[in-house]
Amino acid sequence: MQALSEVNLSTQLRNAMNDLAFDKLTPIQEKSYPVILSGEDVVGIAQTGTGKTFAYLLPILKELKFSNQVNPRVLVLVPTRELVVQIVEQVKLLTKYMSTRVLGVYGGTNIKTQAQEVGQGADIIIATPGRLYDLVLSRALQLKAISKLVIDEVDVMLDLGFRFQLKNIFELLPARRQNIMFSATMTNEVDLLIQDYFDAPTQISIAVSGTPLENIEQSCYSVVNFNTKTNLLAHLLHGTEEYEKVLVFIANKKSADVLFEFLENEFGSRVGIIHSNKTQNYRLRSIEDFENGTTRILVATDVIARGLDIEAISHVINFDVPQYPENYMHRIGRTGRAEQAGKTILFYTEKELTRKESIEALMELQIPMMDLPAEVEISAVLTAEERPHIKEKYGNHKLAQTSEPGTSFHEKKEKNKRTNLGGAYKREITSKYKKAQHKRGNKGGKKR
Ligand code: GDP
Ligand code: MG
Repeated sequence: MQALSEVNLSTQLRNAMNDLAFDKLTPIQEKSYPVILSGEDVVGIAQTGTGKTFAYLLPILKELKFSNQVNPRVLVLVPTRELVVQIVEQVKLLTKYMSTRVLGVYGGTNIKTQAQEVGQGADIIIATPGRLYDLVLSRALQLKAISKLVIDEVDVMLDLGFRFQLKNIFELLPARRQNIMFSATMTNEVDLLIQDYFDAPTQISIAVSGTPLENIEQSCYSVVNFNTKTNLLAHLLHGTEEYEKVLVFIANKKSADVLFEFLENEFGSRVGIIHSNKTQNYRLRSIEDFENGTTRILVATDVIARGLDIEAISHVINFDVPQYPENYMHRIGRTGRAEQAGKTILFYTEKELTRKESIEALMELQIPMMDLPAEVEISAVLTAEERPHIKEKYGNHKLAQTSEPGTSFHEKKEKNKRTNLGGAYKREITSKYKKAQHKRGNKGGKKR
């Protein structure tokens, strides 16, 4: 790592870095700095938590001359609103001794207020693509002065979901501009797209895409079903002091809500949740509460897996196996940031085994397996998704037969008894959830 004193920074930036107690550049920062300064198009790949934000901000801010023109000159595009907020904060930290005007624009907030803010002029805009485009269409914002475009998390941004929006924005940007792209992962397909869109940018890589950080200790458990996963999670979280700040990733909003209610039952108010059905205020507050330790456990969908930098997350638990192996890299990368140690645990069912194997293939390593602790109750209660669709397969007639009184009926009753806890418990959380939704539902999210 290069000592800060050897880097050709401005005094203002150097002082800001000193205030942050950063006295060296990280490898990706060191490598990117001269290339970005030279004005070339750049794609930078480095693992999660290795300081990619400053890798593009430092050279950009070094070059940015004072101006009071209204139209922004630097545009940073990111996939999530939370990331907008975070990067705006990072810019503010770095420009503490400069008069740089930075503004974050993102959906889920009042567009009129944002239009007014934009109208007052900004040097740097950090934005999600949708809201940015709306502001341009409503003529609140002009992009004709943009000379540097940064696309953070470029692989997800150029993936299908965002590509169309980005294309619209590209058409509004001056052709002569510097394109700067960063990510921790890169798929071949996106790499090809970059070659198409950006005329062979210089590649800067610190590690091959898919190289996990060595400071993240990985492990996994083979678990039969959802309810056994919840039992295992509760067991782990109750077990030791070690689980200080735990981020639990789960595939979809519905399961996230179910898991949240379960954990809230176990751990009370020290559990938070974030997903895209929550209001923006609620989402930001969930992150803030988790960041400052008000909550200890945060249940999240992949919406926050990208880019978020929350200090000292001790564990990332993958309650399920993400569909795309790159997402695993981004999920686990929320821990082990800035060279700290972190741990991650993956729960997988037999059905998810192939996905786990794709992740292992991407990383070129086997995730160490742990034995299910004997205390963890193996639940036979299946969720609606897990249950086989007997009705459609066999028709009602046959089902009715098996429920007739007789030996088989009693056997069934015995079996139910054993799993009764799960059943009753599930009903309890379902009913509680209904109440809870009323009380703390999305729309009622506290404003701060
Ligand atoms: P990314 O995942 O690679 O984009 O990482 P971020 O840019 O979000 O940075 C991860 C963390 O490292 C943040 O908390 C930064 O403030 C911190 N960081 C950035 N530069 C340095 C540095 O030079 N030294 C140290 N110790 N931390 C840094
Ligand atoms: Mg980042």
